[in-house]
Amino acid sequence: MTAGHGRGTGSVSARHRRPGRRPGAPPLSTLAALVAAMFALVALVALVPGAVPVGATSNWAPRSLAPRTPPATYQPASAIVTDASTGGYWLVTTSGGVFSFDAAFHGSASGDTLAQPVVASAAAPGGGGYWLATADGAVLPYGSATSHGSMSGQAIGAPVVGMAATPDGGGYWLAGASGAVFPFGDASSFGSMAGTRLNRPIVGMAATPDGKGYWLVASDGGVFAFGDAHFYGSTGGLVLNEPVVGMAATPDGKGYWLVASDGGVFDFGDAHFYGSTGGLVLNKPVVGMAATADGLGYRLVASDGGVFDFGDATYHGSISLQPVPAASPVPAPTSARPAVAVVPDRATGGYQVVDAGGQVYPFGAPALGGAAGVSVAAVVGAASAPGQGYWLVAADGGVFSFGGAAFHGSLGAAHLNAPVVGMAATVDGQGYWLVAADGGVFAFGDAAFHGSLGGVAGSGPIVAIVADQVTGGYWLVAASGAVTGFDAPALPPSGGGLTGSAVAATSTADGGGLWLVGALGGVSATGDATWLGSLHAQLSPLAGKVVAIDPGHDGGNGAAPGIIDQPIDGGGFTEPCDTAGTQTPSGYTEHAFNFDVAMRLAAILRSEGATVVLTRTTDTGVGPCVNVRAAIGNNAHADAAISIHGDGGPAWGSGFDVIEPLPVVSSISNNTAIVGPSSALAVDVRNAFQASTGEPPADYVGRNGIDARGDLGGLNLSTVPKVLIECANMQNAVDAANVESASWRQAAAQGLADGITAFLRS
Ligand code: ZN
Repeated sequence: MTAGHGRGTGSVSARHRRPGRRPGAPPLSTLAALVAAMFALVALVALVPGAVPVGATSNWAPRSLAPRTPPATYQPASAIVTDASTGGYWLVTTSGGVFSFDAAFHGSASGDTLAQPVVASAAAPGGGGYWLATADGAVLPYGSATSHGSMSGQAIGAPVVGMAATPDGGGYWLAGASGAVFPFGDASSFGSMAGTRLNRPIVGMAATPDGKGYWLVASDGGVFAFGDAHFYGSTGGLVLNEPVVGMAATPDGKGYWLVASDGGVFDFGDAHFYGSTGGLVLNKPVVGMAATADGLGYRLVASDGGVFDFGDATYHGSISLQPVPAASPVPAPTSARPAVAVVPDRATGGYQVVDAGGQVYPFGAPALGGAAGVSVAAVVGAASAPGQGYWLVAADGGVFSFGGAAFHGSLGAAHLNAPVVGMAATVDGQGYWLVAADGGVFAFGDAAFHGSLGGVAGSGPIVAIVADQVTGGYWLVAASGAVTGFDAPALPPSGGGLTGSAVAATSTADGGGLWLVGALGGVSATGDATWLGSLHAQLSPLAGKVVAIDPGHDGGNGAAPGIIDQPIDGGGFTEPCDTAGTQTPSGYTEHAFNFDVAMRLAAILRSEGATVVLTRTTDTGVGPCVNVRAAIGNNAHADAAISIHGDGGPAWGSGFDVIEPLPVVSSISNNTAIVGPSSALAVDVRNAFQASTGEPPADYVGRNGIDARGDLGGLNLSTVPKVLIECANMQNAVDAANVESASWRQAAAQGLADGITAFLRS
């Protein structure tokens, strides 16, 4: 294959728009010179490195290289049809399979025994249905597409190769390789090439928008126009690298594209060139094309199901069935985004894992496509269809169907009070439910509405919907683990083990029980579901532990001296309620630093399963007083507590200092029991903080990064193991640069988390 076949530059383009053959018109006398010039250009383009046609590589490579697994049986694709109502499309295979991509699935001949392969397809108006045509002239109608007759059982001389429908769907034409045209229903005959000797067989057809004419195209690119279809040019007479395999007309019928098996695209009339695969090495030949509804783009489909988009054609998925060539290493399935769902592939026994970006990773199952790059909102759930296929759902209610999963509608254009969080499909796959976080349920297709928790106070956020395969009803699962059935049996409370919020759920085969999965990998079983294990221990080293985090000072303290200067009893002595804290020379405040590190630390500890208690949850308030901060940790029965600060030391000094309590007994306090554990916590925090940040122990205070004090109310009044850390000296230039760095603060938080984890696990 050479690069010259696809076109991109204006000059090449002009030469492709040659006046070609039309019925009864002999080739022009200038043809020989034109062909010679074309050859020269083709040779030039092929020899010059980098002279790949402009646009040839746009918008396709990532899709073709997506991980893919060949299914047990491979049936080549034979046609692609645009759903003008949705912008999606159907892919049709020779075996009669129909794969809908943002287009409604109306049925297929998959599984039927066809005498001859499916070779062409046409859509009914409004995306309500489609016809498949086989090589022997049979027509298979689906959805709103009704049968108007066929050539089934009749002698047609040469195989059917093309099909086009009338605008109202009341009829259609079949085109034979011999040039014969067979009209049915309200489709009229405007002539054909039957009985005419053709240089090359007919390979496709397209109709004009009013249904009063059509074109036939031959494999050499010759175009034959009938009725009100005008001739705008052809490649007939040119020597093509690869044969033409199909055509598509523009919406106004004033132009058309031809496509060759190497993906070269030739544009005529008002059809614009948006790119081609002519410069690429394809795994399998292109077998068809379809224009978008507005004619500002088109898609090519290869026999392996790969889809190539150009112009305004957007990618909605493909049935890439062939392994990529060895020269193109299959990227390992890695994801930077959290997984949100897994769906079983009932045809292969494998499964597909879905991440929040809409990327689908197949395991022992085919890659049927994903919503990566398609969906603006995060993908939040998925459901599998019977056979092969699945739906993805995004937080905005957008639904994406792949494989044999039919699109039944979505909330993509609706205003939602709460984001969609999950979906479930009906047993037969002819419908599905979406559930929003507020408990609202939205039913599509044959999924019936059985009730919702929308507007029901006290149910808490909903995280999942599970279909009851037996009753046809469903359960809604709340983050709390509470399960509410709608025409599904009431289930007893779950047996615990969730530890944290529920995020997903599935039912037992008989619908008598559910398993709930928590964010930390915990599993809870209810009803007749049996608890068989969980990821909890592996994912949640701090499960069951409580950590109190005290971000020192507060953003409003400086403006509220009347409050924070009030005296409190710090354990046998008087000190102010709180103070305003320090700041770096450039004005980065300590309270902001403390709060930022605290939030980062809280996130890490929670991800390890800890319950985190904070003494303040904003950086804009006043206080609380240090005695209250101590009480918050005490009342939570924290297993460890830490106060986070930045120091205001001498500018020449730098480094961190962990402060552990000295034993202090007062009329209101006694911290002697926590002095020993707090000292152990200080050592663990010191070691981990230094390792994570590289910050040296302070050179102006403490010793080896640890200090012990009895003059801090926050430590004196604590009844739980507690330390205070001065993470750095904010008056020092080097330390100031560190604390002003978000990455350093993250390292600081990680160090604190590591130290606390080490202490809690020892
Ligand atoms: Zn401080």
